[in-house]
Amino acid sequence: MERELRVGTGYDSHPLVSGRKLVLGGVEIPYDKGLLGWSDADVAIHAIIDALCGAADLGDIGTQFPEEESKYEGISSLLLLGRIGELVKGKGFKVVDIDTTIIAQRPRLSPFIPEMRERISQALSIEATQVTIKATTTNGLGFIGREEGMAAQSVALIQG
Ligand SMILES: [Zn+2]
Repeated sequence: MERELRVGTGYDSHPLVSGRKLVLGGVEIPYDKGLLGWSDADVAIHAIIDALCGAADLGDIGTQFPEEESKYEGISSLLLLGRIGELVKGKGFKVVDIDTTIIAQRPRLSPFIPEMRERISQALSIEATQVTIKATTTNGLGFIGREEGMAAQSVALIQG
C-alpha cells in the first residue's frame, strides 16, 4: 500500500498584556505579562493546531473551535490540541513530526522547552522526540521586539 505524506504550516500571534498568565507550549511561564486572546492564548499550540489542520485537510483552528462559542473561553489549548490529534487519527493519519518556532523578545524560553515537548507529545500520544520547539527573538524589531506581542510558526508532517 502506498503511504501518503502530507505537510501543513501554521502561524499565530497574540498581544502581550499585564494581568494575564503566560502559557506557551502548554507550560505556564513565570512572567509579568501574558498573552491576550481566545482560550488561554497559547500562541505555540495554536500554530501547531493550524499546521495539523492544514496537513490533514481539517480547515483551521477557527472552523474546528468557533471563537464565538464561549465554552472555549480560557480553555487549555492542550485540550484542543488533543481533539485535533484525534481528528487526524480519525482520518487515518499519524503524526511524523512537528517543528515549531516561538518568536518572543522576552522572557528566555529555553529552560521551558523540554516540558513543552513533553506536554505537546502527551496531548498527541506521540514521543517527545517527534516534537521540536525553538525560540527566537526579532532582535528588537517590530511589535515583538517592542514586547507588544508574541508569535509562533509551526510545520507538521503526517503520514497515512
Ligand atoms: Zn491564537
